[in-house]
Amino acid sequence: MTQPHHPPASTLLRAVPASSAGTLPRPRIAVVGGSLTGAVTALLLLRAGFDQVTVYEAAPAAAPRGGGLIGLEHPALDILDRLDIGQDEFVAYPSETVLEVTVRDRQPIHTARRRYPGRNTTWSLLHHTLTRRLPDGVLQAGRRVTGLGERGGRPQLVFADDSRTPADLVVFADGRASTGRRLLDPGRRLRYAGYVAHRGHTPTSHNPLRDFLRLEPGPGCQYNAAPVPDGLDWTLYLTCSPTDYTHRFGAPPQRRTFALPHHVSPAARAHVDTQAALLLPAPHAATVHATTTRMAAPVMDIDPPTRMAWPVGAGWAVLLGDALAPVRPHTARGANNGIEQAAALTTTLTQHHRWGADLPTALHGWQRRQLPDAVAAVRQGPRLGAHLGNSRP
Ligand SMILES: Cc1cc2nc3c(=O)[nH]c(=O)nc-3n(C[C@H](O)[C@H](O)[C@H](O)COP(=O)(O)OP(=O)(O)OC[C@H]3O[C@@H](n4cnc5c(N)ncnc54)[C@H](O)[C@@H]3O)c2cc1C
Repeated sequence: MTQPHHPPASTLLRAVPASSAGTLPRPRIAVVGGSLTGAVTALLLLRAGFDQVTVYEAAPAAAPRGGGLIGLEHPALDILDRLDIGQDEFVAYPSETVLEVTVRDRQPIHTARRRYPGRNTTWSLLHHTLTRRLPDGVLQAGRRVTGLGERGGRPQLVFADDSRTPADLVVFADGRASTGRRLLDPGRRLRYAGYVAHRGHTPTSHNPLRDFLRLEPGPGCQYNAAPVPDGLDWTLYLTCSPTDYTHRFGAPPQRRTFALPHHVSPAARAHVDTQAALLLPAPHAATVHATTTRMAAPVMDIDPPTRMAWPVGAGWAVLLGDALAPVRPHTARGANNGIEQAAALTTTLTQHHRWGADLPTALHGWQRRQLPDAVAAVRQGPRLGAHLGNSRP
């Protein structure tokens, strides 16, 4: 693991002797990205007493945003608990059951039942739950970060409109096409894994499904469905060449890392319907066919991260969540990693600020404890893809 360079003297959170704890001005912390990792980071920091926290989110406030199923394991659920966020607010169906059905010739031939050590939520529910708790003024929407420089010894964020703001610590939680990663760790580029997670949301007034259902119809395909508020969410994994992806979603996978409903062409829709009809039992193929709201995400890989923190002048910049390590969706680790890293970062900064822990050492310890899980999730993706018969080694 590469160790962060130790800057001369950190003005960020200068070592505070325990006796004078709390007497220094709080550092200015800029969080880039206001999705799940960014919102949790801000709430945890605010709760820990860091009162100069701002979240810069590229999407304008008025932009319609929503997302489907997200799995949260117990450590992430516990972190939300510590923020006094009750599970009933973001878990609509508290099932831990996963039904795994082997399908051949469109007929179920074997069902295995296993337990998931966590709960399912949706991006929309959790995002609303988190962002509504942010005090006024903390979340600044429509602020796309394009650069990171240094001015007067401190990190300085540059925005798309060329405005600038200083910070002592910059937390990049800006997702899998992260600007922070491009600036801090430019050698790690996204690589297309050769298949696509096609997603759909079907509104139903009566949802027969209460558990997570996984159908495995044979090599190269998997279908997942789960109940969500107001309906059912499904994901169908299908092989797709880069050329076909570009044709179906209007841009290459490296550029269109999420295909929103308006990017899904009639050709993409027809392809998914045809494959569903060929591979899935009739009721599930009918569900896919009837779905009007479609999205897609190309499955991407990246080299595992070797570091999470970089000195910028006398301050620091760190990468969290998908910005650090985008993972394949079936690892179900994306939201978990970001939330766990955010909680551990808050602990580290608190130890430094309240008890005078040496900051470079504290950040190095944070990195040493968090990196293995991020690396494991990145490596697990191709193994799960190979199990599906869907990966390019
Ligand atoms: C609208 C939306 C819907 C989603 N739906 C699903 C889903 O249904 N299922 C699923 O498994 N995962 C979904 N995800 C992804 C999921 O949230 C992540 O994989 C995981 O939770 C890690 O979250 P993250 O906050 O690290 O990254 P992300 O959730 O990707 O968030 C990154 C945030 O940073 C913002 N951003 C990006 N670049 C900049 C910039 N330069 N300046 C400022 N802000 C920037 C983005 O707009 C976004 O809000 C969705 C993400 C989004 C943004």
